[in-house]
Amino acid sequence: MNKKNCKIIQDLLPNYIENLTNSETNKFIEEHLIDCEDCKKILEDMKKDIKTNNITEKNDKEVNYIKKINFKMKILKFLVILIVIIILTFAISILRNYIILSKLYKLGDSKINKENYMMIKTFITGDYIGKEINLVKDKKYLHIQTVFFMDDSEREQYMKIYEYKKDGKYYRLSKVIDDDNSSRQSLNEYDFFPNDSNIYTASIYKESFLKELKKSVFMKIRTEDVENIECYAISYENGTYWFEKETGLLIKSTKENTKLYTYYNNCVNDKMVEPPDTTGLEIHKIDN
Ligand SMILES: [Zn+2]
Repeated sequence: MNKKNCKIIQDLLPNYIENLTNSETNKFIEEHLIDCEDCKKILEDMKKDIKTNNITEKNDKEVNYIKKINFKMKILKFLVILIVIIILTFAISILRNYIILSKLYKLGDSKINKENYMMIKTFITGDYIGKEINLVKDKKYLHIQTVFFMDDSEREQYMKIYEYKKDGKYYRLSKVIDDDNSSRQSLNEYDFFPNDSNIYTASIYKESFLKELKKSVFMKIRTEDVENIECYAISYENGTYWFEKETGLLIKSTKENTKLYTYYNNCVNDKMVEPPDTTGLEIHKIDN
């Protein structure tokens, strides 16, 4: 055995394992290995090492891959949970709005006797101080509005407006009394009043199911006190309406400026809904 070749052979072994040696070198190595147990042993150890290295590398790669997948799954899980929470919160708030509205409609309708009631609104807005009385008995009604204000030349003005229905026609009688006690009257006739016999419960705002649902999506409802009365403040379409929690009746609204509403059932007699005397007044026909 040629022991002095061992050093050369061992130098060549790494390349031999990787198949980087040529056939002549291979032959030379293999012939040596037949007789040299030392070199044979070194070769086997090298092969083992490479195998273990490969396995460890493979394992590391797999572990990294699993780690990456786990991380991605965690993010995905988090996102799914977040989306579910957002959707649920949204759905719950819509449902809450819808339930509150339905409750107010039902309550308001039960609190007003639509055949006989009186509603009084008071309002103070900018230059106006006023009171409106809505009287309803059977199919008859009379709205009386009194307003006190200053005109452009700082003169006190007192105005009284009557709205009513007579023989199927709608009328508005306006009386203006100046601070020198002179007065003017005008009588208009209309095809209809947009606020014809309005009952100010939540239910006058009631619409079809789909519209109600849409409203529930876009409206904001919070609880708030108005003059110590517990209310739902309902905001949508640039307006806020305060409905009394206990009765479902409209207490205040921003759409018609600051107004306060009070209601009385079964207090109206025939005389109270009698139209005002307009004898001798010229009727102006207004198209609407
Ligand atoms: Zn050897």
